Formats: sequence, C-alpha cells, structure tokens
Amino acid sequence: MFDIKKVSEKIKNEAKNLGFSDRGFADAEPLFAHEKFLKDWLSSGYNAEMKFMENYFDKRISPKNLVENAKSVIVVLLNYKPEKTLPKDVPQIAKYAYGIDYHYFIKQKLYQLLDKINLEITACNGVAFVDSAPVLERALAVKAGLGWIGKNSMLINRKFGSFCFIGTLFVDIPLEYGQEIENQCNKCENCLKNCPTKAIISPKIINAARCLSYLTIEHRGEIPTEYKTLLGNRIFGCDTCNDVCPYNKKTPYNNTPEFMPAEEFFCLEWQGITRGKFNKFFKNSALQRAGFGKIQKNYL
Ligand code: SF4
Ligand code: SF4
Repeated sequence: MFDIKKVSEKIKNEAKNLGFSDRGFADAEPLFAHEKFLKDWLSSGYNAEMKFMENYFDKRISPKNLVENAKSVIVVLLNYKPEKTLPKDVPQIAKYAYGIDYHYFIKQKLYQLLDKINLEITACNGVAFVDSAPVLERALAVKAGLGWIGKNSMLINRKFGSFCFIGTLFVDIPLEYGQEIENQCNKCENCLKNCPTKAIISPKIINAARCLSYLTIEHRGEIPTEYKTLLGNRIFGCDTCNDVCPYNKKTPYNNTPEFMPAEEFFCLEWQGITRGKFNKFFKNSALQRAGFGKIQKNYL
C-alpha cells in the first residue's frame, strides 16, 4: 500500500543526501493567489523586454497545465552563499554565478533524485525544471512551506536566507504537503531603501527596466544613462537587495564544491580580456547567459 507519510519522509531524506539544503512538497493545483499579482505586474510592463514572461500564462499559473499528470511538486533549495566574496574594488559578479551554471547542475541532481525514488521508494514519473519552463518557482516554494517572498521579491528561507537556488520536480504521486509560513519581513525595509535604482517599486514589485540585474544580463540595448551612473563596478547582476537583508547575515556558507570558484576567479584580469580567455574561463558558468560582448560592454 502507498504510505504517503513514509514516502514523503524518504524523499526528503534522499533530497538531503543529494546535498539539497531544504526541500518540501506542494500540490499541483493552480496558484490562484499569484494569478492577479502576475497579471498586474505584466500589465504594468514591469517585465521590460522579457516578453517570454507573457507566454504560457495558464501553464505558469497551473502546474497541471504544464505537466498533465502532475499531482505534486517537489521543491528543492540549494544554498549558494559563498564564504569568500570578490574584493569590493574589482568588477562585481552576482554571487549565484561564482560557481558553475546552476541550471544544469540542479536539474541533473533532481533527475538523480527521481532515479532514487524509483529504485528505492516507489514508482514515479517526473519532470524537472530549473528556470527552464513557465514555472512560478518562488510561489511553489512558498506553498511547500520553504519560506516567504520578501519585499525584495526573493524567496526567504528561515535557515538559509535568500541566497538559494530553487529547483522543481513535477511528479505524479501524492505527497505530504507543506504549510505556508507567515511573511517575516515585518517592519524591515532595507532592500527598498538600498536599491540603487529604486527598482523595488513597492514591497515584492520589481520594475525590471530599472533593475541592475536585468540591465546587466537580459537587457540587449544600451543601458540608459540614468542607470549607467548607478551601475558602479557591477558587470553581471546585482546582489544589493540580498546583501542588505538581515535574513542573510547569519546563514551558513554553501558546501557544494561546484559553487566554490578557483582562486583565479578572485583576481581575474578584466582589462583587455579576450573572448577566447573569457569563454575558456567561464565555459560552464551562468555568465554565458549574458555572453562576452554584453559583459565587456558592462565592464567598459
Ligand atoms: S537586484 Fe539590485 S537593482 Fe535589482 S532590485 Fe535588487 S538592489 Fe535593486
Ligand atoms: S531586506 Fe528586509 S524587507 Fe527586504 S526582504 Fe529582507 S527582511 Fe524583507
């Protein structure tokens, strides 16, 4: 007989053994609570040039519309907070990109989890997504009881803060679902006050067109002059609204070797770097998402 409690516990243990920092389960029913929020955000044009966010709305809102037989979503978090950070006076790269590209790494781990479930726990079909499909990862993580969405729009986990990657595995078995936890930002407004471009329009609402993370990675044209002056020495992404979050202060450092860069990373010579050297050094890095040309422009 299918023992939902035992199966859920065993899956949680396997996820932990695979190195995930936290994990939880959400049902695959529509995320109605997030529907209006997403509609309003899109109709305000806050997605800037990320037109893909407007596609597959019904799939984004409902996991079942994306994966037909989905009953549950296994949501995993992987802490990436680095112990050593780039010196302040060198070109800055967002911490999530210090190591190898998380997309492939986490997806591969999720499929290892699926194999383990099938081999050792129960028969199960599943599909893994890591920023690779219309999935509201943060909303699912909240539903799974893994944290709340902070005023900076990031998922905040009580133990690991917001320096966490999120991965999802849609499965066709029922599981013991998590309980949503209360938003614990309370009176803090650090992220709103410290965002250099005032891209956080109001709690949880980011205008991507003003966000330095978007402008240094996704945005294809020239960065508007008013934001260029606020860029500082960022060349890929922006961590400010995470760095100032009190929930990131005492969190543990990541212990995943793939997210610990070589010493050379911390003293890389950007002046005059060639495409060849860039591509060799960042072969498996999320920096490839922006590409050499865009990063060189940001540097200049
Ligand atoms: S990433 Fe930077 S620019 Fe974007 S909202 Fe956060 S602090 Fe503001
Ligand atoms: S900085 Fe403060 S307001 Fe912003 S997400 Fe963190 S706790 Fe919430």
